[in-house]
Amino acid sequence: MKLSENAIKVLEKRYLIKDENGRLLEDADGMFHRVAKAVASADAPYVSAAELQVLENEFYDLMSNLEFLPNSPTLMNAGRPLGQLSACFVLPIEDTMEDIFETVKNAALIHKSGGGTGFSFSRLRPKGAAVNSTGGVASGPISFMKVFNAATEAVKQGGTRRGANMGILRVDHPDILDFITAKKDNADITNFNISVGLTEEFMKAVAENKDYDLIDPHQSRVVKQLNAREVFDTVVDMAWKNGEPGILFLDRLNKANATPALGEFESTNPCGEQPLLPYESCNLGSINLSLMTKLTDKGPVADFERIGAIVKKAVHFLDNVIDINKYPLPEIETTTKGTRKIGLGVMGWADMLYQLNIPYNSEQALALAERIMNFIQEQSRKASMELAERKGVFLHFDKSIYKKQGIEVRNATTTTIAPTGTLSIIAGVSSGIEPLFALSYIRNVMDNDELIETNPIFEQVSVRQGFYTKALMRMIAQKGTIQGLEEIPAAIQKTFVTAHDISPEWHVKMQATFQKYTDNAVSKTVNLCNKATKEDVKNVFTLAYETGCKGVTIYRDGSRDMQVLNIGKVN
Ligand code: UDP
Repeated sequence: MKLSENAIKVLEKRYLIKDENGRLLEDADGMFHRVAKAVASADAPYVSAAELQVLENEFYDLMSNLEFLPNSPTLMNAGRPLGQLSACFVLPIEDTMEDIFETVKNAALIHKSGGGTGFSFSRLRPKGAAVNSTGGVASGPISFMKVFNAATEAVKQGGTRRGANMGILRVDHPDILDFITAKKDNADITNFNISVGLTEEFMKAVAENKDYDLIDPHQSRVVKQLNAREVFDTVVDMAWKNGEPGILFLDRLNKANATPALGEFESTNPCGEQPLLPYESCNLGSINLSLMTKLTDKGPVADFERIGAIVKKAVHFLDNVIDINKYPLPEIETTTKGTRKIGLGVMGWADMLYQLNIPYNSEQALALAERIMNFIQEQSRKASMELAERKGVFLHFDKSIYKKQGIEVRNATTTTIAPTGTLSIIAGVSSGIEPLFALSYIRNVMDNDELIETNPIFEQVSVRQGFYTKALMRMIAQKGTIQGLEEIPAAIQKTFVTAHDISPEWHVKMQATFQKYTDNAVSKTVNLCNKATKEDVKNVFTLAYETGCKGVTIYRDGSRDMQVLNIGKVN
């Protein structure tokens, strides 16, 4: 198995089984066998023992070849007593004390098991509204968000991984301005990503420079009006300052709701790629595109045949996960099994483009993204139809949009583009559909020694073309880009672009292209350089809206003291 030192370190720290003294009881190979066996076991009622073994081997190969990986909780927990396998959850918050604190408890249970939670705080009455039972006044959504944040902080230590939350507030909630500025200094609410839920009505008011209504959700009445452009500009301001809040186009999410009769989307999971109904959960998995190329006499090309074969097995895998999953709450089990949503996506997209000599910021890259995601979408739907024939459609199929279309599927959704934060480290490839952040890093190792880590595809090309030197790689790590370096041929400079070489428009266009063929949503950060203006941020938001994205997140380099990725440095 071709796991990097980094991958093994990550696996040993959190994924592999240990005894009470912290000694490892399995290695990576053992983990893949454990997961394959557990996931295949869902087919036991349908096939013979010999067929089950074949399936288990297939699932093992899929993962150990690093062609496909399921989301972290599946790798960590499958075949183990905890058995919670999903990354994404959404919990409802009703406007009562009992319900708020019940949800705090439920979120804690989910975090403990490695899942992330999203909530809409939009149903809570605004700050200062009357509380009938006590005669007091309500403290409002932001103060309750802080309670959720504190609970997450406390659970952090004992859980399998850091609990992550998404907090959403509708733009027509009376406390919206407090919400937009809630993470101004970044010291508060650190366990939340926040996003403003924008409505079509609001976007129209922005375009027409009009006022719009703020509605108290408790009394369902208009309490105030604000100028839409001013509110939009405040979101832009704050996002420019430190990357938050993001925005989410709520009506657009709901337009793509496969089961509108079951309820409305009010929130997504923490990283924004998975809209879910209250109490719904979803398990994700990603195909490693960096392995999906083949050499022909015309040069390297995308290998659609191989992608198709992987999609089919991956859909089967993710569908099985729903059956063997141990759900943290009975409501979550019922809701999840009612729609059987899965989210198959990709990682290693930027690496694939490097291999194919296609610049990320090019029409050619968009055209290939379109072909690949369209193909994955079609093939995953087909795989879900085949499963439906064998195992039946999802429980609420009759209430879904597929019923009218006469498409008998087993899963209400099949595709999602996840961030693949850890999966991409395990597979040793670029994350999700993001461009690479840097081609070369300087890693400080013991005794103040330096280790230069270079992207393997770039290193190969630079050796082959004869411009590789350690000094050059060191300079690239410090500079953060190869653009304008005389030592490097122009054609190479054109292909090997990194996040900050790519203009924000291309980031958004890439997100929009993948979104076009994704049932759920797409995780993407539009990276801006430090000098980017508020106008640039506004243009990104507007373009995301115009090109059909379901939401968008931006990050301006250096705008937070603590940032996860730094040019030239790794943690
Ligand atoms: N997630 C979480 N905590 C984390 C990282 C991720 O709860 O520390 C959840 C969250 O819902 C996120 C989803 O997992 O949207 C997928 O994230 P990612 O693809 O980065 O996870 P991976 O499977 O690579 O660990």
